[in-house]
Amino acid sequence: MNTTTPAGNRDQSLPAPLATVERCDRCGAAALVVVTLPTGGGLHFCGHHTRRHAARLLEMGAGLRSAL
Ligand SMILES: [Zn+2]
Repeated sequence: MNTTTPAGNRDQSLPAPLATVERCDRCGAAALVVVTLPTGGGLHFCGHHTRRHAARLLEMGAGLRSAL
């Protein structure tokens, strides 16, 4: 009746990565790009939605930079 369970291995195993990861405003995936709008607002996009909207955003004068 002696089960060796590694009970002490579960502590401090999760560094909470979500605290530093922004989410895409369109689909909720991890954001790769931060968009700064000329109106002063900001958006976050994943790679997929950055490609989808980049041309129009640049036309509007928005700024794109890496969120990483
Ligand atoms: Zn997305």
